[in-house]
Amino acid sequence: MDILVVEDDPRICDVLEYALKADGYSIQTTQRGREAVEIARRTPPELVVLDVGLPDIDGFEVCRLIRKFSDVPVIFLTSRADEINRVVGLEIGGDDYVTKPFSTRELLARMKAIRRRHQRNAPPGPPPENLLRHGPIELDAEKFLVACGGREVTLTRQEFKLLELLIRHPGRVFTREQALDRAWGEGGLVTDRTIDVHVKTLRKKFGDYDFIETVRGIGYRARGL
Ligand code: CA
Repeated sequence: MDILVVEDDPRICDVLEYALKADGYSIQTTQRGREAVEIARRTPPELVVLDVGLPDIDGFEVCRLIRKFSDVPVIFLTSRADEINRVVGLEIGGDDYVTKPFSTRELLARMKAIRRRHQRNAPPGPPPENLLRHGPIELDAEKFLVACGGREVTLTRQEFKLLELLIRHPGRVFTREQALDRAWGEGGLVTDRTIDVHVKTLRKKFGDYDFIETVRGIGYRARGL
């Protein structure tokens, strides 16, 4: 787990670095707010420990800027009670705070609590993408099976790949070149005409279900559903 520590007091920085590393975290540190935003953008950390009082822009501003591109958890370090309301307010977007002087044990406990919370709130992963449907067509990309209206359709490997490409992105137009790149990949003896030939056989094999549109001068697409 990669932590970004933003703190301009070198003693506190040292203590944090030591404690977090001892607990198995990898950390990056900076004393400046603007640099913190840059680091968060360039090498996204999994959690940010952010001091409020910094020499250039304050921690509030840093958090606000980071929130424009990331929802990484942020724990503020603050020494003033009147900062606390702002820190956890929606306006700033902090997740928690620790008041100075603090024990590293307390900070570590808060970090763990926030990580648990974030993992629980994380959106569920994408649904399995091996099963695709387009109208009456069902395609199982893992088992290499295609059916139309419950009837199995036998395709060559290339026809299968082309069909998968088109129905995975309904409505999107693929040029012949893109279709070759994405459906064939490994190259071989194919030309733009190859795509036309495969589209023709696909159309024949799916008969009544006419789902492949020709986009004149560009290429093909599966009708949007
Ligand atoms: Ca400070």
